[in-house]
Amino acid sequence: MASPRPLETTAAHIRRALVKGPEGVTAVLNADDPMVAALGDGLPRVVYAGLDDPTLLQPELSHGADAKFCPRCGSPFVFDGVYFGHVGHYHCPRGDFARPSPDVRATSVAIEGMERMRLRISEGAQEADVVIPLSGLYNAYNVVLAIAAARALGVPLARSAAALRDFTPAFGRMERTMIDGRPAVLLLAKNPTGFNEVLRTAIQFGKGSSFLIALNDRIADGRDVSWIWDVNFEQLKDAALHIVVSGDRALDLRVRLKYAEIPADRIEVVSDWRSALERASASTADGQTIFILPTYTAMLELRAVLTRDGALQPYWQGRAVDAKP
Ligand SMILES: [Zn+2]
Repeated sequence: MASPRPLETTAAHIRRALVKGPEGVTAVLNADDPMVAALGDGLPRVVYAGLDDPTLLQPELSHGADAKFCPRCGSPFVFDGVYFGHVGHYHCPRGDFARPSPDVRATSVAIEGMERMRLRISEGAQEADVVIPLSGLYNAYNVVLAIAAARALGVPLARSAAALRDFTPAFGRMERTMIDGRPAVLLLAKNPTGFNEVLRTAIQFGKGSSFLIALNDRIADGRDVSWIWDVNFEQLKDAALHIVVSGDRALDLRVRLKYAEIPADRIEVVSDWRSALERASASTADGQTIFILPTYTAMLELRAVLTRDGALQPYWQGRAVDAKP
């Protein structure tokens, strides 16, 4: 018998904490992620958040190897559609468990390039519009879950929606800067699903053609970098005109990009951070943006260079941090 997979083990620990937790605990859960939603099965107090915009659902493309299973009978879930990865609308074919109906839902999500996103939020009979300076469907989940958490604390929808209008992204999460006169966006990417989504966002909504991808393998990044083989780098094949690869494991990344059939003359390995930024900038056409996709420690190091250059505020002086209570 196969050993339990890390995600399942983590889910089991969280479930135990929720079941044994103090009375009055409210769980705020993503209804569209089957493993997360199952954590709320039978709990007395749960607020579910999810997306209900059918125009954004796509057919499920994932492989059977990472199927998600019904917490009651163990059957593999059937997906009616996914927003990305295994996040979407699903049900058990035996009829004993289905995606919970979200208490806080986005009934429409309109992504306007890399600049902003408009969401129509519905909570019971109340509705509100939210505009935030972020892109990417995964950030729609951050919005509905933030509103759901506020609801669990008794904050009315109108107030949480208004608060989100003044929100600024945290460092490295769609953070904007200029590199040698060219606009650049930092998109932290630290696992296959996250990587796929930031790539998709950069290509689809940012019309990205110039990339700097930085892979480190320190403890905070994960020592094992084999996960890069689960990232759909094939998305870059038609989009990328130039890719700088950097970081401790730049060569692994280069091999991965080769297998994604990206022509070798579009890939440049540059180990020094400052030189990597310079090469990315010099290879970006006028009017184009540089998309920087680093793993966690690579982002810290790149940010340190950019902060030294004066292109970025140190993260502890950034507005995003000041905005926190
Ligand atoms: Zn079932």
